[in-house]
Amino acid sequence: MFKSYAYGFPRLGKNREFKKATENFWKGKIKELEFLQEMSRLKDSIAENYRKYVDMFPEGEFTLYDNMLDTAIMLGVYKVNNLADYFNLCRGKEALELTKWFNTNYHYLVPFIRKGFEPSLNLEWLNRYKLTHKSDILYLIGPFTFLKLSKGEAKDNFFEILEKLADLYTEIAASYKHLHIDEPALVLDLSQEEIQSLMRAYRKIAAKGKVRLFTYYDSVELLEELYNLPLEGIGLDFVSNAENLRIIEERGFPQEKTLIAGVVTGRNVWRTNYQKISKILERLAQHTKNIVVSNAAPLYHLPFSIENETSLPPELKSALAFAKERLGEIRNIAGKEAQEEIIFSPKENSSLRLKIKELKEDAFIKSHSLEERQKIQKEELDLPLFPTTTIGSFPQDSEVRKKRHLFRKGEIGIAEYKSFIREKIKSLVRYQEEKGLDVLVHGEFERTDMVEFFAQKLEGIATTDSGWIISYGTRCYRPPIIYSDISRPSDMTIEEISYAQSLTKKPVKGMLTGPVTIIAWSFVREDIPIKEVAFQLSLALQEEIAAYERNDIKIVQIDEPAFREKAPLKKKKWREYFDWAVKSFNLASSQVRPQTQIHTHMCYSEFGEIIEEINKLDFDVITIETARSRGDIIKDFERIEFKKQIGLGVWDIHSPAVPSKEEMQKVVERALEKLPKENFWINPDCGLKTRNWPEVSDSLDNMVSLAKDLRNRYQTIKK
Ligand code: GLN
Ligand code: ZN
Repeated sequence: MFKSYAYGFPRLGKNREFKKATENFWKGKIKELEFLQEMSRLKDSIAENYRKYVDMFPEGEFTLYDNMLDTAIMLGVYKVNNLADYFNLCRGKEALELTKWFNTNYHYLVPFIRKGFEPSLNLEWLNRYKLTHKSDILYLIGPFTFLKLSKGEAKDNFFEILEKLADLYTEIAASYKHLHIDEPALVLDLSQEEIQSLMRAYRKIAAKGKVRLFTYYDSVELLEELYNLPLEGIGLDFVSNAENLRIIEERGFPQEKTLIAGVVTGRNVWRTNYQKISKILERLAQHTKNIVVSNAAPLYHLPFSIENETSLPPELKSALAFAKERLGEIRNIAGKEAQEEIIFSPKENSSLRLKIKELKEDAFIKSHSLEERQKIQKEELDLPLFPTTTIGSFPQDSEVRKKRHLFRKGEIGIAEYKSFIREKIKSLVRYQEEKGLDVLVHGEFERTDMVEFFAQKLEGIATTDSGWIISYGTRCYRPPIIYSDISRPSDMTIEEISYAQSLTKKPVKGMLTGPVTIIAWSFVREDIPIKEVAFQLSLALQEEIAAYERNDIKIVQIDEPAFREKAPLKKKKWREYFDWAVKSFNLASSQVRPQTQIHTHMCYSEFGEIIEEINKLDFDVITIETARSRGDIIKDFERIEFKKQIGLGVWDIHSPAVPSKEEMQKVVERALEKLPKENFWINPDCGLKTRNWPEVSDSLDNMVSLAKDLRNRYQTIKK
């Protein structure tokens, strides 16, 4: 028998109560008191769930929006007096930047540490909105991870600030029985200096209290150094990697510390293989007597419970575990209760398997070189200098959402819904022509989500009824489940795209989501290599692209916004990842005629360090986000002698502000110093789904007008 521990249980609630109550409060439909009561109920029910299954759990994990922000408030980075101040930092005029949390699809608010920042402890927010008093283990994000993920002085004065933060954590440690401190940043590649300062910080903090340090998402290379700290326990992830186990087998584990063994995944939905886990635990038990069984990553990457699902195939459903079921697994493993093995055995598509096995190098290479294609496409498309386009989606306004809702509820039929979508497409085509855009899109009105949409069309991928997880704030999505070999039974997007194309002489872009992004935003089967899953998706996309060509679609965009995010946290694992990531993109698009122009789109990531990998993707045009980084990425493109065409996003679509022509022009001019004008596109930096029509209208006017100015200025006389 082991003791059991769990953390990170989703706050969303069984029926998304968190989202509903918060949004109702924002809209003024419920008062603060009612809102807070609902939040308390959620906190209580989380504690109840824990208590039902495990011996110990932390408290203080609950947040009204984001734990990084809460930590910033606790450390004196932001002063907030009430909920209005708080939500203003989340989504108001003072909103902080949002970025992906490690290599997950959860977005945290990025604290900005100003110059001259003096840390000071403020526990009021914690006491008022986060605690439940149901456990004597206090949950905190650690000072190292906090700073590592913050901006401003956190970058310039890291070591000095860390020292000061350590004093504050020491103060907290002295007044709580136990601390659960999350330090996932310890799995990143760290410099010697960073490691030394981390050690200094924890020597202080851990000396004053009982600290359990948690790491997850990958292995901890500096584990042996942590042994020297006066920690009460260390939490390690034994699911995502084999190194943690290897290090312990080689170096042992200190007898006086507790090993909190993360053996149940928090990042995928397949039921735990008990046999495999008990073997790992046996091996660990050779090195330490103090083992606590736990999850290997926070459980909030999983939906609430599989019990909520009604339409999954039963044999699949029985092989799945969401957050609540993970608690049960932890209990069973800790209690050494033998469980019957439930493994889902997908049907194998042997011809597809064979096809992938026999792919030769040339399957990834186009028949014509980039230069040849550029010439041919120039003739074919006859686009002006500085062509204008958008990224794909247009506002999903209340009209669209209402119709979809009615359709889902069965209150309107498929025919009515489809004709509504057609009307939307038709008016959007006209709208874009009036605005003077050069390359048009159909608007993506039929898609709720760029991954779920394709999951619904492809075989081998299941979608759930209520498998919601939080992406950020109250924004949720339902990751599909890739459970079997993938095939494309029929056209997925042809109907809408070719309808749009039939209405205009201008080219309309075919719009696809790439294999890496589909994988990154889904739960993926683990019985075959991920590379094979990616190639299966590529072959399905290849068929769709062939269908575009048969329908006279001349431009195809393959979105890969998750290309950077999906990269492993440790650089030594990059080569293997980028190998399949690049190949899967190229496989999807390699069979096209030279006339067909392939676009890709990426956004909201640090692209500088992966620019070489991006360049290995054999597209013709990339539209990429730069509006926030003010075109910094240009130096990276210059460094690699980028020959493809590029549309630097000149309009930051995550902000409601309408960009002026001058603002956009600055980005372009800076880029034109480095990149040839013939290769330049003008576009927003992402889809317009979340914007409203008036903003879109004004911004597009400015954008198109800028393109016209540029043409006048740079046009050489046509022969
Ligand atoms: N084509 C998608 C859209 O316009 C791309 C979204 C994204 O990059 N996340 O919405
Ligand atoms: Zn985007």
